[in-house]
Amino acid sequence: MRRKDKKFKIQYKVDDKVLSLRFETIRDFLETDFPKNNNSMSPTNDTELLSVTWHKQPLFEKCFKLGEVKTLLKDFNPTKLLRKEIYSIEEARDKVKDVLFEKDKKLVKVDFDGDLIKGNSQRYQTFFTKGCKCVVCGIEGKYFAKERHLQDKSYHLNLYAVDNNGDEILMTKDHIMPRSKGGIDDISNYQTMCKLCNEAKGNKLED
Ligand SMILES: [Zn+2]
Repeated sequence: MRRKDKKFKIQYKVDDKVLSLRFETIRDFLETDFPKNNNSMSPTNDTELLSVTWHKQPLFEKCFKLGEVKTLLKDFNPTKLLRKEIYSIEEARDKVKDVLFEKDKKLVKVDFDGDLIKGNSQRYQTFFTKGCKCVVCGIEGKYFAKERHLQDKSYHLNLYAVDNNGDEILMTKDHIMPRSKGGIDDISNYQTMCKLCNEAKGNKLED
């Protein structure tokens, strides 16, 4: 792996010189003992880090000592979603309806409280033309959450249903005819399905 492809980076200062170290994964960083190889340019657990970035996105708003960063990242979950606002189905539909099937990439961005969202995604097309209900179990998507993964720059909307226990269930667009069986990526081949039913369908097809 080339150095610049490593996704986790820390910056720090030694004698007024800004230095950086990169790691392929956060796990690699957590498992490294500092100072590294007794190198005098290596940070120690007491070194205050200037920045900690993952996929070029800062992980913290303030600076911490390296040892503190290690503690903070112990439970780091890269699949975790950062969430901002919640929108009703009607609000979301209203905002994207004019660009839902727009083909010009320059015209598809919709302002959702200061974040530009690509309004013509095939997921929104599926939910807004085929309905928000899972075709298998019937659970129904109730609201959209504006979310992004830590490593993403832009937000998108995720549709959620809530089950009887009060847990959120992500709604997905399912390929009616799976891609592995020649199904195409087109609205005609999509249907709304909750994540649980979609995973169960996936497992069945693999049998
Ligand atoms: Zn379902």
